Amino acid sequence: MTKEKLRTLLENSVNELYAISIEDASPQELFQALAQVVKYAYADDWRQTRQHLLAEQQKQAYYFSIEFLPGKMLKSNLLSLDLLTIAEDVLHELGVSLDEVAETEKDMALGNGGLGRLASCFMDSLASLALPGNGNGIRYKYGLFKQKFIDGHQVELPDDWLRSGNVWEVRKESKAVPIHFGGNVYLQENEAGKLKPVYEGGFTWRAVPYDTAMLGYQNQHLNTLRLWSVEVPSKEEAKYATLESRQALENLTAVLYPDDSNETGRRTRLMQEYFFVSAGIQSILRYYKKMNRPMDQMSEKIAIHINDTHPALCIPELMRLLVDEEEMAWEQAWATTLKVMSYTNHTIMAEALEKWPVNMIKEVLPRMYQIIEEIDRRFIAGLEKVHPCDLLNRTRIISDGQVHMANLAIIGSHSINGVAKLHSDLLKAVVLHDFYVIYPARFNNKTNGIAQRRWLQLANRPLTKVLDDTIGDSWHHEPEDLSLLKNYQDDASVLEAIAYAKKQNKVALADYIEAHCGLKVDPTAIFDVQIKRLHAYKRQLLNLMHILKLYFEAKANPEAEFHPRVFIFGAKAAPSYHYAKSIIKVINETAAMINHDPQIKDKIKVVFLENYNVSLAERIIPAADVSEQISLASKEASGTSNMKLMLNGAVTVATLDGANIEIRDAIGDENIAIFGLTEEEVYRYYAEKNYSAYSYYENDTTLQRVVNAFVDGTIPGIEMEGKEIFDSLIKYNDEYFLLRDFEAYCDAQNRIDIAYRDTQRWKKVSLMNIANAGKFTADKTVQQYAEDIWQIEPLFAHVKDPHTASLTENKS
Ligand SMILES: *Cc1c(COP(=O)(O)O)cnc(C)c1O
Repeated sequence: MTKEKLRTLLENSVNELYAISIEDASPQELFQALAQVVKYAYADDWRQTRQHLLAEQQKQAYYFSIEFLPGKMLKSNLLSLDLLTIAEDVLHELGVSLDEVAETEKDMALGNGGLGRLASCFMDSLASLALPGNGNGIRYKYGLFKQKFIDGHQVELPDDWLRSGNVWEVRKESKAVPIHFGGNVYLQENEAGKLKPVYEGGFTWRAVPYDTAMLGYQNQHLNTLRLWSVEVPSKEEAKYATLESRQALENLTAVLYPDDSNETGRRTRLMQEYFFVSAGIQSILRYYKKMNRPMDQMSEKIAIHINDTHPALCIPELMRLLVDEEEMAWEQAWATTLKVMSYTNHTIMAEALEKWPVNMIKEVLPRMYQIIEEIDRRFIAGLEKVHPCDLLNRTRIISDGQVHMANLAIIGSHSINGVAKLHSDLLKAVVLHDFYVIYPARFNNKTNGIAQRRWLQLANRPLTKVLDDTIGDSWHHEPEDLSLLKNYQDDASVLEAIAYAKKQNKVALADYIEAHCGLKVDPTAIFDVQIKRLHAYKRQLLNLMHILKLYFEAKANPEAEFHPRVFIFGAKAAPSYHYAKSIIKVINETAAMINHDPQIKDKIKVVFLENYNVSLAERIIPAADVSEQISLASKEASGTSNMKLMLNGAVTVATLDGANIEIRDAIGDENIAIFGLTEEEVYRYYAEKNYSAYSYYENDTTLQRVVNAFVDGTIPGIEMEGKEIFDSLIKYNDEYFLLRDFEAYCDAQNRIDIAYRDTQRWKKVSLMNIANAGKFTADKTVQQYAEDIWQIEPLFAHVKDPHTASLTENKS
């Protein structure tokens, strides 16, 4: 497409939508109009990808996830269509920047953090590899809450992202399916002698899909993200005439995390899980039937992936459809289900594994419960002679009045993977060891990855330009080609160009900080970044403790030499997570204290940016010098912000946790600051029960000064919160070993300071981080899922270079 063509299309689009001329369009109107043009540009390819898949009967994967976190889509879609620079030019001539226009798009924030973002990076990679892989989830009316700070406290505001419509989605009314909840079910023989479920009472709601195209990177391959929304069933409008009954229905897909502190909220969450699972599987079966193939050969054409346990009901739901509706024998249905399903575990902490009370499942999903009971019964019966009964009791699905979702997911899947080497090893050795004994061959590892296109090409244009000029642009398709940069590790002009790109990004972030926080920060300071959900195990508090130590030292000894630092936080706390919110409050008050201390000047600044989300991550990451990945070893399954920051040249301060270990292995100890307990040491403390936080406190005066600051009035305005934090560390013996790791952490930070002041060395370390980050591409991760787990192939497996393959032979 030429610039002139795009301009004409945009003019027409503005006219059709708003009946105004292009010069009068606001950035918001230009966004809507440009998005329409983008949609026209990919419509043919989207249709043809689907037609081709059906015609070829190619196997497809379906990624079921209760969260997706794509962020904004205008620029990534333009990039995929190779229209980014053209669009920039056209808008520039109109006197607006593409960024200004793109900024008006609402983030699609249908997820909390890493898990949802991973699902979206996978969508990007699947399409970019021309692999047939689709997403299946929920179209929440409200995304993850908008975070504001009021008096330093987190306040949650609704994220009404659909208010002005969502241009990218297509409502597929004709593909709606019914979803049944509640009532009673019993089995009765029909005329043919088959046992059939008879439903009494309950209610049936309608699931309507909204499809969004997932564009491959410049390869004309488009997959579909299908998100389900609840609606009143047709012909039943009268039943839902009252406000209350309609409200109850609409609540189902209203919010991402229904308040789980009460029974109603928890029931809604369970209903959400069944809702998108049942809708997704019904639509997959309808598609499969179009192929006219035997039902028991489904696994040759369909792979279903369960992203964490929230979609684990996929297993009994597919069983229900095969046995109840398709009249397949149980054994045959089970064999089919097992071959279709695969599951990714994302948690190590046993207490975080999902469970549902038997009574709630019976009440809300009575047929699901019967099927789960039968799966459980057969699991035990089949293994009784093979394994001791205490092992089976620990692994069965239903026990202690609870349905254990991970057990269900494992028993019903042919593949179970963790998301980093350490995590997968811990699953086998500890968390899921019992299952590993039963099903050793099912366990495997797939280390997480990220989409380099979004996290570098789009987010960091200055660095992209340097890379393209230095090593060419093959890394756009093959991120592992970033390793070519290693050839330039001693090239002064390349090192300087990379440093200059970083400087530009830091100036841009400094401007953002000034505009949003009214705080001036010095772009020549070290930008030290910790961005992730706020959670005790991620140890934002350890970061804060180091800041306090620096602060006290700077005050006691104003001549002390260290390079000025700006500590940047971005984090949301779950609304009901009291302790995490207290940490936010304490960070904010500490920031206020330090930022306004005239003795400190620009030596230390602390910035907590509001409302961390994908778009904010895209601003912060390119400007980061230091990446904080300091979770307690053994607690972070993988982490992905560690990869994004590395890719943008930040140097990592890390514990040996999750994928940090693989990052260290990739870049070598000289290019990362490792500190702290190892996973073995943590487990040894657990086994020997001999950790005493107090003894660390007692014997270290620096630590005392820092920990006391939470309760001795040093930090104004934090009485309750400070006490809570102090108690967690001292009275409740510091569950996440902050006091134990404090000294080692401060030491690692000191090494960072020394390295940064050696400018040449720092530039090289930064380059080596970028050069090695290609290993952590989601393309590779997804390729491994495709080969080892899903057995799916690129659409143009027979064409040599799928990137240049054209679907549209006869395009005029
Ligand atoms: C990448 C990402 C995360 C995950 O961060 P971790 O540090 O790996 O927990 C969370 N939220 C957003 C918005 C992200 O982009």
